[in-house]
Amino acid sequence: MNEDQKKKLIELIGEENVVFDEPMNKHTTFRIGGNAESFVRVQSTKEMDVLTDFCRENDIPFFLLGKGSNILVGDNGIPGVVAYFGEEMSSITVKGNMIIAEAGATLAAVANTALQKGLTGFEFAAGIPGSVGGALRMNAGAYGGDMAQVVEWVRVLSPDGEIKTLTNEEMEFGYRHSILKDIPYIALAAGIALETGDEKSIRFAMLELANRRKEKQPLEYPSAGSTFKRPEGYFAGKLISEAGLSGARIHDAVVSEKHNGFIINEGCASAEDVKTLIEIVRRKVYEQSGVLLEPEIIMVGE
Ligand SMILES: Cc1cc2nc3c(=O)[nH]c(=O)nc-3n(C[C@H](O)[C@H](O)[C@H](O)COP(=O)(O)OP(=O)(O)OC[C@H]3O[C@@H](n4cnc5c(N)ncnc54)[C@H](O)[C@@H]3O)c2cc1C
Repeated sequence: MNEDQKKKLIELIGEENVVFDEPMNKHTTFRIGGNAESFVRVQSTKEMDVLTDFCRENDIPFFLLGKGSNILVGDNGIPGVVAYFGEEMSSITVKGNMIIAEAGATLAAVANTALQKGLTGFEFAAGIPGSVGGALRMNAGAYGGDMAQVVEWVRVLSPDGEIKTLTNEEMEFGYRHSILKDIPYIALAAGIALETGDEKSIRFAMLELANRRKEKQPLEYPSAGSTFKRPEGYFAGKLISEAGLSGARIHDAVVSEKHNGFIINEGCASAEDVKTLIEIVRRKVYEQSGVLLEPEIIMVGE
């Protein structure tokens, strides 16, 4: 971005909402990543529209950050604009059995609202450390549940500035997939349809799943969750273990011994360390089992 573009960005979004050269390791659960050239808080749909138009017209790269829990940001950072939804785009409201959650809301906050209202069906998401927007794009899921099973509609901002409401079917949900991966729609909000339940049982289910996570996952270290997608008919962690890679490391990037499907950052891992380890794991697992693992985490920036 040149100086004129930086000035224009401030004019459009407000000085208090723009930071230049923001370290992304502060905004990713991996605690890895160079600087975002600009880090922009977006407070309304209109602002998001203005911002994406500005980036398009000026040929400035644009990346939308959720809670940074499924990304690996490159050591040289992210050029252009990294936008994120502020508090103003994170509301949660309840109408009968439906929770309407804006994209910036955390899944944990939505799950807590469901608990308070005695609504069941969202317990699976309570321990996933992402935002509603990120979860919609990834069709986040765990323990037999996923977004596809509970989302009734999604309001999106289309690349040409139109606000559309997509039905569950139009979202084209699949395993860790939605249409948001094919078309650069920005999710604004979702209607999550739940069922009336019993508060005690919902609380119990959430606690039980949280305990299972704590027991099985290396939550005591920074990571971006499961590094690889689950290959059909296999478990990534088991394949990695069978290839003798439990505990394999490149500097501080380590295949967790607690859960071989996670690569963790034991302190000062760089994105390059993680990428090198990912490639080693993919090659060795392929040699051992003939299965080519596909990363679930998204590489962003340079
Ligand atoms: C300890 C740990 C455990 C995890 N467990 C699980 C699990 O059980 N199941 C699971 O599925 N995942 C899990 N994850 C991964 C991750 O939390 C999910 O994929 C989550 O949905 C990502 O959301 P996010 O807001 O952090 O997105 P980010 O990582 O910030 O972004 C992910 C992608 O979504 C896009 N995006 C963000 N917001 C929007 C929006 N509003 N509109 C369109 N696109 C958007 C981004 O541009 C990016 O491409 C885990 C991660 C960690 C660290």
